[in-house]
Amino acid sequence: MATDVHELPNRLIDPFGRQVTYVRMSVTDRCDFRCVYCMSERMTFIPRAQLLTLEEMATLGQAFTELGVRKLRITGGEPLVRRNVLSLFQQLGPLPGLEELTLTTNGSQLERLAGPLRDAGVRRINISLDSLDPRRFRRITRIGDLNKVLRGIEAALTAGFDRIKLNTVAIRDRGDEEVLGLLDFVLARGMDITFIEQMPTGTDADAPSPQSFLPSDEILELLRTRYAVVATDETTGGPARYYRIPGQASRVGFISPRSHSFCEGCNRVRVTTEGQLLLCLGQDHAVDLKQVLRAYPGDLNRLKQTIVQAMKIKPKGHDFNQARQGVAFRHMSSTGG
Ligand code: SAM
Ligand code: SF4
Repeated sequence: MATDVHELPNRLIDPFGRQVTYVRMSVTDRCDFRCVYCMSERMTFIPRAQLLTLEEMATLGQAFTELGVRKLRITGGEPLVRRNVLSLFQQLGPLPGLEELTLTTNGSQLERLAGPLRDAGVRRINISLDSLDPRRFRRITRIGDLNKVLRGIEAALTAGFDRIKLNTVAIRDRGDEEVLGLLDFVLARGMDITFIEQMPTGTDADAPSPQSFLPSDEILELLRTRYAVVATDETTGGPARYYRIPGQASRVGFISPRSHSFCEGCNRVRVTTEGQLLLCLGQDHAVDLKQVLRAYPGDLNRLKQTIVQAMKIKPKGHDFNQARQGVAFRHMSSTGG
């Protein structure tokens, strides 16, 4: 029996009074890189039949936006290696109530797709880049080609996105010049950059050791050796803290899950490639949306009801600082970061 539409609220509120307005959807667990902090060298990927179809993802997008979600981010794995992924952007772009459709990509496919993504309604994108040194880049990504990514970034600049942001995972063995070089790179192009503290996910032997953890405050100190970096109270509703350099268009952000708690303002949930709704990146609480999508095809209200109910188990905060098992065994490529 279909769910009564009158029982449905138009906002998602969790038990701590936080409203969920932002959903990150992972569209594939596959990737053309094997970054050491994200994947194993030899990955076993999820069989295709277990993945949500792009149509099911579009239905999820509709359900979430009807429940007050204003921002959707497409991620992965590498979202742009999923076949026909543009059609998903084209279906999500026009959804009423959606204020921002965005993606996080490693940049390898942007030379081909930057223009079509812009045409599909994407206004801002995040591109992950940890090094401008080809050999170091190869060491981190294992199989990535820096030149391809740099060409992708140029294509994104040409396509005319409102904002392009680099995401850089901070690892201690990075030379000082590297961090400063990345900052120079974004300043010269009017791009933003966010430094992300490495999170302890995945199980790989090659993953950076606990000793390689580099707190945001150390990077900030380093940036201040060259630039007057000033704290701001700007926010994008997420966990990043933002800084500016007087006279520059770029914004410098820090996401510091380990050194600075940000859970009290959490406004987001995630959907994995297999349709698991994850209530927190750093906890195991999850609800199976694929089961609802496949058992009740076309019943949007039932899907929305399931999402509303799921909010009741959204945990207060993550556990990254505790040496827990479980979440630590989830690869970042399956959760979308
Ligand atoms: N493939 C795309 C990319 O690399 O941008 C999207 C998916 S990736 C999982 C999303 C983000 O998570 C990237 O910026 C990546 O650097 C980050 N990431 C992956 N593993 C991480 C970890 N262990 N700690 C912190 N960030 C991580
Ligand atoms: Fe692929 Fe992104 Fe993970 Fe690197 S961080 S392996 S590019 S999904």
